Amino acid sequence: MILELNALAVNYGAIPGVRKVDLTLDEGEIVALIGANGAGKSTTMKAIAGLLPYRGEIRYRGSVLAPMRAEANLAAGLSLVPEGRGILARMTVEENLRMGAYLRRDHAAVNREIISAFERFPILGKRRNGLAGYLSGGEQQILAIVRALLARPKLLLLDEPSLGLAPLMTAEIFSFIAGFRAQGLSVLVAEQKSKHSLAIADRAYLLSMGEVVASGAANELAEGGLILNTMLAIG
Ligand code: ATP
Repeated sequence: MILELNALAVNYGAIPGVRKVDLTLDEGEIVALIGANGAGKSTTMKAIAGLLPYRGEIRYRGSVLAPMRAEANLAAGLSLVPEGRGILARMTVEENLRMGAYLRRDHAAVNREIISAFERFPILGKRRNGLAGYLSGGEQQILAIVRALLARPKLLLLDEPSLGLAPLMTAEIFSFIAGFRAQGLSVLVAEQKSKHSLAIADRAYLLSMGEVVASGAANELAEGGLILNTMLAIG
């Protein structure tokens, strides 16, 4: 098991962001975290990444994580692509990618990985010296994911990777994510419209008002779409 959340709870002052989340993720698994707007998906992701104080326990690769240690978590292989992507708009595409590798010392390997990203996504290569802020939303999302991969993560946390994107771009991004399983990378992906994440995930957790209200095999949850949609509507 690479990740285990035990009774995770996060408050924003008096407002509960997450009330009680228990979740596990095995090595090499893709797990979807689904739920309506405000259900607590982003809060869960940020707590795991070390960006928020919390109660309960987060275990990562057998050790209990200390809260609020984002840089230590990143160094240990936990990489977050935040909602809204977190691209540095006034830096170039290549500078954004290099930021992803800032903790690494194997510069030759970093250069090779950047070149192979430019081959895989030629638009990034063509615009390598252009400002990242001029890329389309979908291109920025790909840039954000590639930047996170340059940290050589063991667990990738993706918060709403399809937010605001056209269907074709969403499909391309999810097929990119689905390929991570073959590389042995573990992925936790949060998505409000659960369709794409359930299609690529092994398992899923449905959050409502800061609690897990359903979990199981992703295909079974997808088949129970009616119940799910009802819950999302009230969640
Ligand atoms: P979305 O997809 O809209 O981000 P979500 O499922 O990720 O939804 P969260 O953003 O985790 O949900 O929000 C969970 C709860 O915490 C909501 O009630 C939200 O209003 C509240 N919340 C989130 N961030 C803050 C904050 N910075 N200050 C106060 N309350 C917050």
